[in-house]
Amino acid sequence: MEKQLREERKSTEKRIWDILCKEHYKALGLLDLKSRYISFPVLYGKDSWWNGDTQYPYEKVIDDMIERWVDPSCQKAFRRCTSLETVRENMTVAGKYCFQVYNKSDETECGTYYWYDKEKEIVLIALNDMREEQEHDPVTGALNREGYMHHAAKILASNPDEKFAILYFNISRFKTINDLFGYETGDLLLRKGINSLRSSFLRPLLVARMEADRFAILVEQKNLDYTRLTELLHTVYEKADMKVDIYGICGIYLIPEHCTLSVSEMYDRAKLAKNWIKNQYVQPYAVFQEQMKADYEQTSIAISQLEDAIKNGEIQIYYQPIYDAHTEKIVSAEALARWNSAEHGIMLPGKFVPALEESGHITLLDTCVHHKIYDFLRDRKAKGMPTVKIAMNLSRMDLMDDNIMQLILKDIRDTEEDVKQVSYEITESAYATISPAGMDFLKTLHNSGTSILMDDFGSGVSSFSTIREYEFDVLKLDMGFTRRIGTNIKNDNIIISVIDLAHRLDMKVIAEGVETREQADFLKENGCDFFQGYYFSRPVPQDQFEALLERDL
Ligand code: C2E
Ligand code: MG
Ligand code: MG
Repeated sequence: MEKQLREERKSTEKRIWDILCKEHYKALGLLDLKSRYISFPVLYGKDSWWNGDTQYPYEKVIDDMIERWVDPSCQKAFRRCTSLETVRENMTVAGKYCFQVYNKSDETECGTYYWYDKEKEIVLIALNDMREEQEHDPVTGALNREGYMHHAAKILASNPDEKFAILYFNISRFKTINDLFGYETGDLLLRKGINSLRSSFLRPLLVARMEADRFAILVEQKNLDYTRLTELLHTVYEKADMKVDIYGICGIYLIPEHCTLSVSEMYDRAKLAKNWIKNQYVQPYAVFQEQMKADYEQTSIAISQLEDAIKNGEIQIYYQPIYDAHTEKIVSAEALARWNSAEHGIMLPGKFVPALEESGHITLLDTCVHHKIYDFLRDRKAKGMPTVKIAMNLSRMDLMDDNIMQLILKDIRDTEEDVKQVSYEITESAYATISPAGMDFLKTLHNSGTSILMDDFGSGVSSFSTIREYEFDVLKLDMGFTRRIGTNIKNDNIIISVIDLAHRLDMKVIAEGVETREQADFLKENGCDFFQGYYFSRPVPQDQFEALLERDL
């Protein structure tokens, strides 16, 4: 019994200590449930209305608070929450009781009741300012979105003559880092990211984690140094015997003079600018220009019109032939989507595929492409014309969407065409986020007799584990390697080794982006099986592709 009392006292003392250590409590008091009096009230802040007496009737204090301090929208609830019956009931059942309330300045506060002395029925009441918790991110301790918006607005309003900029940061492939190292390491990297921003040459006035791996800072424009920013955006993380390059990208909004935008609108512009980063390894940042917004709106409008575009036949398939390295005749082709919009002209996938992936509409496009390829093959067969294998691209998002996976498998089951005529390209990085359902789908697809191609091999991470874990028929060497042929001996040796590796694993190799005779000769000499690239043919509309087939088949 005595031991239990000691333990209880210890835990009460700890709780009181924790409360006292909190900087943001606004009031404390001891409530005697039996006498219904509050003693030793301490109230901080300018709106203190207690006058130093040491005892107040509890109900009188509550009435005063309602009149002077509680927002009218929650006065009724406040009275209910603070009634002695409610307090007594909760303290008896749960041992601790808390509720939230808005004050007249629209701030959220939290009232908490703890047992101070259970036997004597004395309760400790604390009133905390919740803003601190509401405005901070628990993982990194930095401001969260709400805190950032609030403090940035205050700084901007009180310094109208200073020039500021909002910088938006995103860690590239953060999901992959989480998958490789686990969430604990992911969280650690987020904290490191926040700390390196905080202590950087940018000397930010505010640092916030807005969501997931997205950060925002507020800086004075005079601190911006783009060379140093590029350095700041690359770091190497080492764990055990693994080393990973971590890259960040950054969108910048330079706040103009007399800007009337809200902080949230400014932040959106900084975020938008990052979509215009062309090569993140060369220049990992972009500064917002008004034109970016106009372009973005155009693409967004286009996306909202995708369904109509499909109905109106605005989605066209261009075919880029793939050539045998020895005969240099067409052996297959890649189907590439083009959006021929009445309003915007011909749009390349770079303009709409990423936005479709983000908005979840990509599966609509890929289903349409799948049908069009079968239409093409059927048409050729009906005309008695020979044809070649056609490869289509599957987005990483398709591998997360059960509907399109089922649709493709259904198309394959239902078609009267030879399913071996259609193959599927999946970009290397898609494997980093693949779900078990996606894996099963690829297995079923492969077992049905179709070929699976690994697209853009060497452009991302985890290539080797991926080719070990999955069955591929063809490896497409990323055009980054082809482009550097003859300029970098290491690059050339990597190509030779990758071709050898692919052959050892029973895969053929297509080199992407072949643009010169020299590149084709080098690749052929080193055993590459097929070529795709502008040197042989650009992607062309169906009629031109058929003319090319006429010549080669
Ligand atoms: P990808 O699958 O790697 O396709 C190859 C891209 O490289 C094509 O760009 C092609 O035009 C371009 N290319 C081919 N040879 C050369 C060359 O010699 N030099 C240069 N500089 N470029 C060359 P495109 O058509 O703009 O497609 C870009 C990407 O968009 C594709 O990359 C693919 O990932 C995606 N994509 C295209 N069509 C579709 C589609 O129907 N569905 C999905 N999900 N993605 C698609
Ligand atoms: Mg492809
Ligand atoms: Mg490719």
